[in-house]
Amino acid sequence: MIAVLSPDCPLRDKAEIVRLVEAHGLRVQVSETGDASLVAVIGAGPDELAPIADALRAHPAVREVRTEAPPYALVSRERRPEGSRVRVDGTTIGGQEIVVMAGPCAVESREGILEAARVVADAGARLLRGGAFKPRTSPYSFQGLGERGLELLAEARAATGLRVVTEVVTPEDVPLVAEHADVLQVGSRNMQNFRLLSAVGEQPRPVLLKRGLMATIEELLLAAEYVVSSGNPRVVLCERGIRTFETATRNTLDLAAVPVLRERTHLPVIVDPSHAAGRRELVPALALAGIAAGADGLLVEVHPRPEEAMSDGRQSLTPDAFAGLMKAIGSVARAVGRVPAPPVRPPATGTVGTA
Ligand code: PEP
Ligand code: MN
Repeated sequence: MIAVLSPDCPLRDKAEIVRLVEAHGLRVQVSETGDASLVAVIGAGPDELAPIADALRAHPAVREVRTEAPPYALVSRERRPEGSRVRVDGTTIGGQEIVVMAGPCAVESREGILEAARVVADAGARLLRGGAFKPRTSPYSFQGLGERGLELLAEARAATGLRVVTEVVTPEDVPLVAEHADVLQVGSRNMQNFRLLSAVGEQPRPVLLKRGLMATIEELLLAAEYVVSSGNPRVVLCERGIRTFETATRNTLDLAAVPVLRERTHLPVIVDPSHAAGRRELVPALALAGIAAGADGLLVEVHPRPEEAMSDGRQSLTPDAFAGLMKAIGSVARAVGRVPAPPVRPPATGTVGTA
């Protein structure tokens, strides 16, 4: 249920309305749309709702009570027609600039991640990607370096100026990952791990939410709604391919999801061509198509020596191929009225250690 308050509603009234709902033992989420304040009542059953709806309607500051709220009221485009921007220090996702996040599938070693960071920073990426906690299909596969991997990512950030995006797989690890990373990734396999969604929603770092491999666009938006309704509005969505009958690619990149999401939500949208393609030869075409379709950025796997990668080497670009892709991104971005984000400025005192 959503209560719509008039834009000039005094703070005192807003606080009173929040207390009114909380007195029934329910949570609220207040957000501003520009021409109204929305008070979302979270987690109520139908029996609880009726008396609260009546009480809200009786309050003079409440313009309207929508008991049939759209299923994803907080992330819907209606709420913020101009689109929202997610800032990660000096980088803005969802603005005019196309933001590229790149790096290996997993953090494998200190030297490897520092080298990958240098390569992707030189080519113009703004964020370094790399999994420290890997959700692998097989329990016998490399599971990531865990906390040590997070420390190495932080070291690569200090050396290059890139910000860090890395996956978190359990609610218990959220504080640890948030301590080291700039953006918390929720992977495809966890898109409907609702406790994890709430946990990343209760901390302040931006969240990169990847579409589940079997999830509809509406399910993705509802997953984002979990994060935002838990208190964190800084969510970026990622289309990474879905499972279909087609076997020529690892997943089927649902390019149409990009314009559909732009229509339905104000949240920024990026494309991961790597997990969609499964083969590096296909990655540039899908990446450029994603930008042409309106994506705000890309998440690309790059490995200094893909043939030695401990995971997803087959779909990882070589440094040269990534540099070539970054040049092509500039042309496509400009053709659709966007610009590539400028490269990060290396930290004044930072040098990539080789010890
Ligand atoms: C990843 O980004 O390395 C990853 C595991 O992606 P996904 O969750 O989309 O499979
Ligand atoms: Mn991967």
